[in-house]
Amino acid sequence: DRLKQGLEKTRKGITEQIDKVLVSFGKIDDELFDQLEEILITSDVGMDTTMRIIEDLKEKVRERKIIDPMKVKELLKEELTEILSEENADLDLSSSPAVIIVIGVNGVGKTTSIGKIAGLLKEGGRKVLLAAGDTFRAAAIDQLEIWSNRVGVDIIKHTEGADPAAVVYDAIQSAKARRADVLICDTAGRLHTKKNLMEELKKISRIIDKELPGASRETLLVLDATTGQNAVSQAKVFSESAKISGIVLTKLDGTAKGGIVITIKSELKIPVKLIGVGEKLEDLQKFNASEFVEALFA
Ligand code: GDP
Repeated sequence: DRLKQGLEKTRKGITEQIDKVLVSFGKIDDELFDQLEEILITSDVGMDTTMRIIEDLKEKVRERKIIDPMKVKELLKEELTEILSEENADLDLSSSPAVIIVIGVNGVGKTTSIGKIAGLLKEGGRKVLLAAGDTFRAAAIDQLEIWSNRVGVDIIKHTEGADPAAVVYDAIQSAKARRADVLICDTAGRLHTKKNLMEELKKISRIIDKELPGASRETLLVLDATTGQNAVSQAKVFSESAKISGIVLTKLDGTAKGGIVITIKSELKIPVKLIGVGEKLEDLQKFNASEFVEALFA
């Protein structure tokens, strides 16, 4: 399936190496754990998370009196599924309209993800409206409009340089008038002006509070998996500016560093809700821990 295909590079990077190590060891010893540790760290799983995984594995091996190295793979799958499992991985879009605010730096796949989310929701029978809130670049507005045409949903836009909060305000009025189910708001992806970003997001947030009190709201941060630990740093900076409800991790198909999902989940405590494993509409998928781990080790 597409998930399996999309994770091929990571599978080659992590899983095949793990298999090689496990096959080459006749017994489970510290040397084996050292090698597993190295594979996880070089696959961008992150130091702290790797340590935790290795400690847990050692404990499970001891508790269950496991002696066959090949059984360690099952334990690792179990461990990763536990780390990645999340109770609220679904988007909460229960109110109508519900609001999704999408943030992230330029180039991570923000516009593409908004387009895909809109397309998937529309396929699911929801009426979607887009707000072109990245008014900093004319190209961002144009790109979003291309996606709105492609998936057949309406868009509210102002000109370049307009106040993003004003775009969101208009979009909310329009969403109410058209009885839209979901309003998806793009935002500017500038991190170098953190204070401005924070102010901008706060202003948008206040308008939603005022105009749509009690509406379900998701604030999704889009991260590019190919940037590895850099994505983790971005997430840290953004979480100081906004309350992020979930992460959209794009371009997993383009990297062997899919282990970044594990780092994000365990170090940031923000659920990964959607993953991008390719350029097509159906390549944006709901994140499911056990499906992900199965695909990784398939
Ligand atoms: P933005 O600047 O953050 O809005 O980025 P765009 O949405 O324009 O995306 C940047 C590039 O990444 C485009 O060429 C997209 O097609 C590509 N892209 C986005 N998501 C994915 C993904 O999951 N897989 C792959 N392979 N490419 C993606």
